[in-house]
Amino acid sequence: MQIKKIGIMGGTFDPIHYGHLMLAEQIRASYSLDQIVFIPVGNAPHKQEHKPTDKMHRYMMTMLATASNPHFTVSDIEIKKEVITYAIDTIKELRVLYNTPVELYFITGADAIILLDTWKSYKELVKYVKFIGASRPGVDEHVLKEKIEELSLELGAHIELCSVPALAISSTDIRNRVCEGKSIKYLLPETVENYICKEKLYLC
Ligand code: ATP
Ligand code: MG
Repeated sequence: MQIKKIGIMGGTFDPIHYGHLMLAEQIRASYSLDQIVFIPVGNAPHKQEHKPTDKMHRYMMTMLATASNPHFTVSDIEIKKEVITYAIDTIKELRVLYNTPVELYFITGADAIILLDTWKSYKELVKYVKFIGASRPGVDEHVLKEKIEELSLELGAHIELCSVPALAISSTDIRNRVCEGKSIKYLLPETVENYICKEKLYLC
């Protein structure tokens, strides 16, 4: 039996945009992954500076954005919890849920790889998943490579770097644009843009 390869794409997705979707699709194709599971974070440990939008809105936007790709699915594993969620707990739970052997690939932007050693139980986490870190505009390549070398040597972490087209899109910028009345067209799927407009999200 062939072992399934599953890509895990975690994020606040506040809102989800083409940077996320492009990244997931590029990695899926390059690594021949069977499926990508988008997991909107429930109550995130890393987002103290900005209070995330209601998780049902973020979940809905993720559903809308991924609907047209048959390889993409969305999991509510984190948003249905009231407590702060950590990647280590989610990955452990997923390993139980898939009751057949699977290979899990954690997909992140380079900015998240640099912060990996601040994640809860990251030493254990790297034993369960392989990381695929994608280039992201604004991230210092030198710092990134040093961090990967350190984690690989110290913990035997499996972290690969994958170069993807540079899209300088971020959720922060999209939120700011809406607040300032600027256009967000072509930065994210139209379905998500319409949802933001209908639900009056990110207005100041
Ligand atoms: P925010 O500005 O609110 O932090 P974000 O755009 O960084 O939002 P997140 O939900 O924080 O989006 O990111 C989820 C994952 O997607 C992270 O691993 C992040 O590095 C990656 N990512 C987000 N945008 C891009 C992009 N434009 N290119 C490559 N990776 C990205
Ligand atoms: Mg971010």
